[in-house]
Amino acid sequence: MIRIVAAKDFTPVSAVDQSYEKERDIVLDMINQIRQHGDAALQAFTRRFDGVDLTDFRIPQHVYAAAYQQVTPQFTEALREAIQNIRRYHEAQRRQSYMLLDEHGTTLGQLIRPLQRVGVYVPGGTAAYPSTVLMNVIPAQVAGVPEIVVVTPPDKEGNVHPGVLVALQELGIQEAYRVGGAQAVAALAYGTESIRPVDKIVGPGNIYVALAKQAVFGKVSIESIAGPSDILVVADDTADPEYVAADLLSQAEHGELSQAILVTPSSRLAEQTAYALEQQLARLPRQEIAAASIRNRGAIIITSDLAEAIEMANRIAPEHLELIVEEPDPWLARIVNAGAIFVGTYSTEPVGDYFCGTNHVLPTEGTARFSSPLNVDDFLKKTSLVRYSKTALLQHGEKIIALAESEGLEAHANAVRIRLQKEDDKL
Ligand code: NAD
Repeated sequence: MIRIVAAKDFTPVSAVDQSYEKERDIVLDMINQIRQHGDAALQAFTRRFDGVDLTDFRIPQHVYAAAYQQVTPQFTEALREAIQNIRRYHEAQRRQSYMLLDEHGTTLGQLIRPLQRVGVYVPGGTAAYPSTVLMNVIPAQVAGVPEIVVVTPPDKEGNVHPGVLVALQELGIQEAYRVGGAQAVAALAYGTESIRPVDKIVGPGNIYVALAKQAVFGKVSIESIAGPSDILVVADDTADPEYVAADLLSQAEHGELSQAILVTPSSRLAEQTAYALEQQLARLPRQEIAAASIRNRGAIIITSDLAEAIEMANRIAPEHLELIVEEPDPWLARIVNAGAIFVGTYSTEPVGDYFCGTNHVLPTEGTARFSSPLNVDDFLKKTSLVRYSKTALLQHGEKIIALAESEGLEAHANAVRIRLQKEDDKL
């Protein structure tokens, strides 16, 4: 049964504070092996962890057409529409370079350039995630990344899930490899004979993938390390308890450390949601996982009013925040910490997970205090542009020399002075 507590008695339960020392050592060793032995190590790890002996990691072209026969037409249709929605949403995030010109003919600019080569990790292992393909690849495509390479673990026959293959094909991904785990991350970061290194690695994965991404950060960029998923519902007496319960469970089924919380001033809603949760839980195929999540980290928090509920939400900084209240707008304005906000009865969180267009890669574990959903900016970088005119250098040169000399950097001062002197000699 989910715990029901008064706001003043609520203490958050963090996802187990494990240091993962053992797994970290394993991952560091795997990265070294890939760096030293390249494809041979990739092959050995794929044999050991995925149970298949591959010499060619690239996903062969002929499997794509066959994949369409293995999924339903409804899946392909829905996927196509989701792609359009996600693309449209992310296109609005595009940035422009800018230039500032002054009267001396000086131009200062910021140039926006896409990363040149990005690796997307698509988890395999226990399930298949076509939606992960869309959410990670589309923002990179919208940013204009010319080379996007996807890695995903093979099954024991060396196959990749057909849903993932269809997603890759629909997005026009040309370069995809059937490798997974820390070995795939290491290959993307350092390169092997068959996989060229990338500039950034994005995408979720299990603990080995997460630790590998952490370990290669610096050699390449990464977007974030995804923690267990979470949802927080702020609701008042007008909310339907069956909907609220269903939404809490939609995150609880992700994993035993996922967090599902309802914050409400209504004790009626609290009690009825707790009841509905039990009823629905009993019918879920992933009942054990969801029940453990609710037991470990689930809660219904009763507040004195909605203002206190919003305050609580801001403190927890959830990955997904549902706002199911009679008049959402004034409350919406007060929410400052959330990965994604879903407003109203019909904005159930899976709408964003799969379809409406917003990104489902969101900051977890309270990191919405300082970070954002995956977006086009994650695949762009900025370069400063300086085009200083002679007039400007003659006018400001002495000031630059003074600043350089104050730091004892004579060669810096000299680079300016030599120009000023030569111009002076010309007079
Ligand atoms: P995975 O692809 O992350 O991991 C599979 C790989 O793990 C294997 O290929 C293998 O190489 C490696 N591995 C397994 N056991 C190992 C061991 N003992 N030592 C070293 N390497 C080992 O797939 P998964 O395991 O199913 O995990 C997927 C994860 O991604 C889940 O935690 C899921 O919740 C998460 N996920 C998150 C999102 C999101 O948007 N946040 C989306 C989809 C999936």
